[in-house]
Amino acid sequence: MRLEFQEYQAQKIVNVHRDVDGPWFWVKYSAQPYIGCASGCEFCYLRGGRYLGRRDPDSFDRLIQVKTNSVELLRKELSKLDREIITCGDWQQPAEDRYRLSRGMLEVVRDLDFPLLVIERSPLITRDIDLLVEINTRSWAGVIFSISSMDALLKQAFEPRSPDVGRRLKAMEQLASAGMPVGTALMPVIPCAGDDEKHLEEVICATKDHGGSFVLGGGLTMAGGQAKRTLEAARQLDPALEVRWRKLYNWDESGKPNYSPPRSNNSHLGLLIRELCDRHGLKDRMPRYVAPGPLELNKRIAERLFLKTYELELAEAKEYRIWAYRKAAWVVDEWPESIAERYQDGGEAALRELPGIGKSLAGEISRWLDETQKRGSPWQ
Ligand code: SF4
Repeated sequence: MRLEFQEYQAQKIVNVHRDVDGPWFWVKYSAQPYIGCASGCEFCYLRGGRYLGRRDPDSFDRLIQVKTNSVELLRKELSKLDREIITCGDWQQPAEDRYRLSRGMLEVVRDLDFPLLVIERSPLITRDIDLLVEINTRSWAGVIFSISSMDALLKQAFEPRSPDVGRRLKAMEQLASAGMPVGTALMPVIPCAGDDEKHLEEVICATKDHGGSFVLGGGLTMAGGQAKRTLEAARQLDPALEVRWRKLYNWDESGKPNYSPPRSNNSHLGLLIRELCDRHGLKDRMPRYVAPGPLELNKRIAERLFLKTYELELAEAKEYRIWAYRKAAWVVDEWPESIAERYQDGGEAALRELPGIGKSLAGEISRWLDETQKRGSPWQ
């Protein structure tokens, strides 16, 4: 396919997320130098949302818009922000060979001492291992490789032009050997074809064999144009798969699919991945990096609250309970003063004054703070 590059000067580069995406990647900021992706995976969620703006969705993998001022903008915008985890750069692009904007962005992240998370399908990331190691020494840098499956047939059907999985794993090994925290985003798990124990365990074992320490699993979502393309790819692989997906996403010929399968499917998948990770000594969550400082304990409390939402999801708890923990996590994570000092001064009642923290959550947070104090060390 002939690629076209369209250069332009962007107005802005950093997306400041309202909340960190706990308990998944713990990212607060993101910044991407290119729009579009030459790999053109059929299941790519970027095909389905507002990512392309008013562009023709079919141009996603042949027209790459290049924000030529990415590096300058990143330096300007990041220097005004608190040091929380940023994900930036894009090594999946042939454009990166020509423009090297991702490398320039890493230099900015290093200079300003921000923690960094890279989520990639491309082994080209190892080209910049010197900078990644430097960032990891000065603050923190983690790399997650996206691997949907080790099955060559599934790769051919859903991501025929993405980088070779074996090369991604070699890159993972190289980064792990350099002391970086690395793991796998087992996403999207292909429903009814790549979600059985054998397929999942292959990815988990490959991660372990290449120095990874965690695997985050997530199912396939369906939205807009992406949904139609993904379904078509499934049909071409096996017409019976289309029938099963239509049932799973409650999708009749004339209507729209549900965004994701029923909750019971998601929790079954999460529990199976956890069991397999346990079996092979890996984690099914990514450890959160928190910069040392006066609000470190707030972030750790928020981390616990976020992790609790995941436990409740797996247990298929009532939605209102999950939302209570999620909202409390958001509040605590962003609170501008020390929660521990507030508790010291005013006890549990002072915690109940925080928005969204009722009696039971205040009690839970108090117990965690008491445990921390007893240990006499920052909460881990
Ligand atoms: S490599 Fe990633 S960003 Fe590119 S099309 Fe595939 S899933 Fe989307």
